[in-house]
Amino acid sequence: MATESSVSPNPFEVAQRQLDEAAQVMKLDPAVHELLRWPLRELHVTLPVKMDDGTTKIFHGFRVQYNDSRGPTKGGIRYHPDETIDTVRALAAWMTWKCAVVDIPLGGAKGGIICNPKEMSQGEIERLSRAYIRQVGRILGLEKDVPAPDVYTNPQIMAWMADEYAFLKGYNEFGVITGKPLALGGSAGRGDATARGGVYCLREAGKALNIDLKGATTAIQGYGNAGTFAHKLGAEILGLKVVAVSDSKGGIYNPDGLDYEAVFAHKQETGSVIGFPGAKSITNEELLELDVTVLIPAALESVITAENADRIKAKLIAELANGPTTPDADKILHEKDAYVIPDFLCNAGGVTVSYFEMVQNAYDYYWEESLVHERLDKKMTAAFHAVHDAAKEYGVHNRMAAYIVAVSRVAEAVKLRGWV
Ligand code: NAD
Repeated sequence: MATESSVSPNPFEVAQRQLDEAAQVMKLDPAVHELLRWPLRELHVTLPVKMDDGTTKIFHGFRVQYNDSRGPTKGGIRYHPDETIDTVRALAAWMTWKCAVVDIPLGGAKGGIICNPKEMSQGEIERLSRAYIRQVGRILGLEKDVPAPDVYTNPQIMAWMADEYAFLKGYNEFGVITGKPLALGGSAGRGDATARGGVYCLREAGKALNIDLKGATTAIQGYGNAGTFAHKLGAEILGLKVVAVSDSKGGIYNPDGLDYEAVFAHKQETGSVIGFPGAKSITNEELLELDVTVLIPAALESVITAENADRIKAKLIAELANGPTTPDADKILHEKDAYVIPDFLCNAGGVTVSYFEMVQNAYDYYWEESLVHERLDKKMTAAFHAVHDAAKEYGVHNRMAAYIVAVSRVAEAVKLRGWV
């Protein structure tokens, strides 16, 4: 069983290093710093699952509750063959900072199962998901810890999990899991919430930096949930002119702009953006280095590195992906005055609407989509300005500023509770 990360660098060590750097700048109390370097608790579970061929397979899973000083913990569940406890720990730490930076009353958590859902039937995935809840359910709850979808998990899996949890409790408690289908207590506006939150941040960055975003050339890497909605909403809300998009097969570029409906239909039809009529083919590396005003990495981690950061020309970089920029690249981008909206601020719209979903489930009263948008806008705008102002006050880049804002809020909570 892979319990420690073989990924280099180890993601949990990266998460601890980022905290260490922020702690130094903000002169964090040493005991608070040491407390925040570790998860408060974690559960390792072993899951026997009957497979379709009649055999029983044993899976291993985790749930890490990193810090619940500001409220119940919150974080997705990943199904991945390379899942490790260190990856889950790192993601749980980042969820803690993400919830704090948007100032929602939640802590951070994450879960994972080592498995390859691409090689499993729907029945096997359902039995695995129910087995996970039978083991982990005892530490979950609307008031304790609330999972959500993540890599290779989806609303159907959340529905099975909510159902299994209802059997454990003897009644429905929909708020125990978010990202559910609408028919089972999901929230309006959850589907595009991540991109929408990022677009609200971009709008505020445009105002703060005096950059006119109407017609501003934009490149988007990744054309999944985050990337497609960034294309749609960036054009609709800000009037961005998206000139390049890409997916795992490659990218397309048209200096006259790419129409969202047409590109989306092409991707639906062919499985990729490549081959879109009238556009030139480019590589994912070339897309990052295009001479555009706005760059939106919305695919993978570590795509902007010390090797290519100097060639990035965008003035504004909105990180919808988690971890697209390495720490060395951050410094280079800061020195060349590129303005980065860091991942755990830029993509916090998803968890913010998940929090709205929990609130609606608790009251059993559901909001109009327009109200979800309005409340999301308020949260994202306030978070953006808190980070923008902290960057100026401390003279640091935005990622460090986001850490300072988030960590100060968690530090205040642990002190007020008398933990340190
Ligand atoms: P997704 O699976 O829907 O889409 C991923 C996209 O990336 C696909 O279009 C895929 O083709 C593309 N891709 C894969 N490999 C690539 C490569 N080598 N080069 C270029 N593109 C490549 O995933 P998503 O939900 O859109 O997530 C994208 C990023 O946003 C991830 O980093 C994720 O952690 C982050 N994120 C998503 C959400 C959310 O609510 N969806 C929330 C927070 C953060």
